[in-house]
Amino acid sequence: MQTNLSQYFITSLITLGLTLALTGCNGSSDSSIDTVDTIESSDSATETDSGDSSDEDDTGTGILHSAYYEFDTDHVEVVLNGGTVSIETNGLPNHTSPYWSADHALFVEPTVTSYEQMAPGNIDEFVGTYTLTVDNTPEKAADTSATGLGAIGIAVSGSVIYNDEEGPGIALDGAVGSLDFNGAHTGPQSYHYHLEPISFSEDDSNLIGVIADGFFLYGRKCNSTGTYPTDLDASGGHTSITQHTQDAEYHYHIQNEVYLGAYYILFPGDYQGNASAIR
Ligand SMILES: [Zn+2]
Ligand SMILES: [Zn+2]
Repeated sequence: MQTNLSQYFITSLITLGLTLALTGCNGSSDSSIDTVDTIESSDSATETDSGDSSDEDDTGTGILHSAYYEFDTDHVEVVLNGGTVSIETNGLPNHTSPYWSADHALFVEPTVTSYEQMAPGNIDEFVGTYTLTVDNTPEKAADTSATGLGAIGIAVSGSVIYNDEEGPGIALDGAVGSLDFNGAHTGPQSYHYHLEPISFSEDDSNLIGVIADGFFLYGRKCNSTGTYPTDLDASGGHTSITQHTQDAEYHYHIQNEVYLGAYYILFPGDYQGNASAIR
């Protein structure tokens, strides 16, 4: 039995074989997930009325983590199915950027970057989706694993999170000039964040998004204390209460370490949990 988050587009997950292939690192592909149908953000949603009024399912693990309610429903669809959560986004951010086409309502002139430095491509040229399926109550893995190139998380804004590399063995610092005021740019695929995205988190404890291992990423401060946590592990993680739970749980923070004099890396890794591919 599935539990739907009623304010999200409701679609049937009956056909979804959520036998998620947990990939260790680098988002290496596993063909088994290819059999999963893409969740369509369409109006032809199939409602299951019997499930809408209940927050629990038969497994007892069926209460969607409240942090997921912060994801922008105009871009991101979150569906709980048993103990797993499927997060699908159109990849487009809900805020301004110079990377929108000039005639787009959210376009703004570049400030910290310039037309000369900007990466090719506009945000709205991306047509597709990203989907991540994680455990609703993730646990730390026996071993950590390195993040890889491409999307390593999905932000509350709708766009995806990258690590601190720009290409195979290419550090981000060579591309910093192309990043907009949200520490994000386009190419080679969709708009993505590398650095603290100040449109929705600037030196605070706001939720940034969910990392591919199912743990949430918060801003530089922790809601549990209102200031910078001092007990972070190598991944920027620790266990405490948050604004979303009164039961202490493991989560990541943007580490409060200045990068290139002015920036904060979102999530260099490693994953502390079992990361799933975002595709
Ligand atoms: Zn990049
Ligand atoms: Zn914290």
